[in-house]
Amino acid sequence: MSLADKIDALLPQTQCTRCGYDGCRPYSEAIAGNQAPINQCPPGGAATIAALAQLLHRPTLPLNPDNGVEGPALVAVIDEERCIGCIKCLPPCPVDAIVGSRKQTHTVIAGMCTGCELCVAPCPVDCITMEPRGGEPEPTPEINRARYNAHNVRQARRTQEQAALLAARKQTARAPAREKTA
Ligand code: SF4
Ligand code: SF4
Ligand code: SF4
Repeated sequence: MSLADKIDALLPQTQCTRCGYDGCRPYSEAIAGNQAPINQCPPGGAATIAALAQLLHRPTLPLNPDNGVEGPALVAVIDEERCIGCIKCLPPCPVDAIVGSRKQTHTVIAGMCTGCELCVAPCPVDCITMEPRGGEPEPTPEINRARYNAHNVRQARRTQEQAALLAARKQTARAPAREKTA
């Protein structure tokens, strides 16, 4: 297990990006490379800082307040009466916890939501709110990590497919021009 793996194992895996990195894994790699301090993760808060300090033999630090504060676990809730089915909340969700298709009402699968809040800002009609989880069990960090990795694989594949489609269209558009000049 690499140092980055050990650090990643201590991070909460909400994938919220509040640390300034694209997720827990990039932040763990920055810490391992001595490029980031250990106090940047609000969801992990004091407990995560203490665990990182122990692992890395570094002094503990207070949480960086610029990144937010520690708080209770939250879950995203969509007001389905107001949802216009624009699908803008789907790509930002790092664990694919929102289901819905274009022009259809969307909904959050509460048991998969990490509470990262990344879906809130993109919604053009402000129909997503963050609410206390109540009795809803939280997904484990291991499950969040696996879903985040699967999300990234799917996103990368989609980007490749779109690039290939675009290249094929350009090729087709050029072909008649070549035929005319032949
Ligand atoms: S939980 Fe959020 S702030 Fe903490 S390491 Fe992961 S992405 Fe960064
Ligand atoms: S539904 Fe929203 S808050 Fe929940 S994991 Fe997805 S983006 Fe984050
Ligand atoms: S961004 Fe808002 S309006 Fe658009 S699909 Fe998501 S919840 Fe519905």
